[in-house]
Amino acid sequence: MAKKYYPTIGLEIHAELKTQTKMFCGCKNNPDEEKPNVNICPVCMAHPGTLPVINKKAIENVIKVGLAIGGTIADFTEFDRKNYFYPDIPKGYQISQYKYPIVSGGHLAGFDITRVHLEEDTANNKHDRGDFSLIDFNRAGVPLMELVTEPNTFDEADVAAKTTSNFAKELQLILWYLGVSEANMEKGEMRVEANISVSEDKNKLGTKVEVKNLNSFKSVEKAIKFELDRMIELHESGKGEEIVQETRGWDESKQKTFSQRKKESSHDYRYFPEPDLPKMFLHEAFPLEKIKKELGELPVEKRTRYKKDFGIKDEDIESYINDKELGVWFEEVAKMLDSGDKTKIASNYITSDYMGLKKNNLEALPPSARNFAELINLVADNKISSRVAKDILAMIILKDESPLQIATEKNLLQKNDEGSIKIIVEKIINENPDVVSIYKGGKENAIMSLVGKVIKESNGSANPKMVIEMLKNLLI
Ligand code: ZN
Ligand code: MN
Repeated sequence: MAKKYYPTIGLEIHAELKTQTKMFCGCKNNPDEEKPNVNICPVCMAHPGTLPVINKKAIENVIKVGLAIGGTIADFTEFDRKNYFYPDIPKGYQISQYKYPIVSGGHLAGFDITRVHLEEDTANNKHDRGDFSLIDFNRAGVPLMELVTEPNTFDEADVAAKTTSNFAKELQLILWYLGVSEANMEKGEMRVEANISVSEDKNKLGTKVEVKNLNSFKSVEKAIKFELDRMIELHESGKGEEIVQETRGWDESKQKTFSQRKKESSHDYRYFPEPDLPKMFLHEAFPLEKIKKELGELPVEKRTRYKKDFGIKDEDIESYINDKELGVWFEEVAKMLDSGDKTKIASNYITSDYMGLKKNNLEALPPSARNFAELINLVADNKISSRVAKDILAMIILKDESPLQIATEKNLLQKNDEGSIKIIVEKIINENPDVVSIYKGGKENAIMSLVGKVIKESNGSANPKMVIEMLKNLLI
């Protein structure tokens, strides 16, 4: 019987902030700039004698994040120099924060937050051009938020991996909702590092490994799962001492973590307060109450409201949380419908049919809320069949027209008048003597084939319930 192991995960997440200019100079902050070394100046190139100036907007952005996760906004805060040598940081230090981060504490998606601080991003090394390296300084000095979580101990590796990836996703949503970062992981605008360890003792931490290069939520989940399994396997085979404190990368193609460098000793960054920047008193400099009121609706609040107001499925709600515009459209549609049942039907059509059609048709646009609500009314009131509803939906995502008008012109309104349905039913009975005799022979399911033929003959307009009843009566 295998022993029980408790995985512990702690996170460090960096996110580039969306501001007009860089953190300490007036250069443009443009993550999409493809030409290297155009958004640069003596300050972000680390020329001697230049002086940094604080970007107030970047501080405000971090304050917003702090308020959104229920953290404490420091009154006193300052920047520090984090000293280390690397070609992408030619000053010889990164301006960061040490003792007095802007945000302390907070909670998000199952993790306790330690701190959120502000620093500058580094330049970009390009090692892929041959036997030399190039450096692009466009990214140097871009405002970078760093969020650090408390170590979080779980009962199961799967739960640890899933919860962590969900946390990263939730943080990305908050950054989007607050409008403070694009946080695109593939573009490196949000970078996740996970400290991972396992222990047999829930109250004692094992040796931790830091996993980097996680550039999607899927790889966050997979890398953590892989690393935990690797550690547990080493423990199980009596080789627990082979787990060493090290930095590991994630190889997307091999779906494995690999050792990047072993840590001989912990870095001494010799932090000290940045002498070229003023100290800050945030409670005086920022109207915190006002900023808090103006944060807007956060994902967690929106979930609660959608659940309460519309009673729709959790997965539908997530579709609207992830795609704000889709959510706004759904709300407009819901406003035009006169019952909760219709709202649920509308949500089904949006999240399954509309989104499915859109995936296969790039030109598809959401029709006006009025026309979409009209479609839902038609199908919910049995004026058209669900098959016809899907056909009309496929038309109105390309040309926004009235579904009632389409149904009328194309003769698709469900026929509820017995006379005209009866004519079709009798025709189908006459044309299909084999099926009729199978049905009469006791195979009751055979009737469905006749129902299908009747509905097809009516171009989908015959009311299925009525057809079944009529067939049964006529075939006694
Ligand atoms: Zn600059
Ligand atoms: Mn950092």
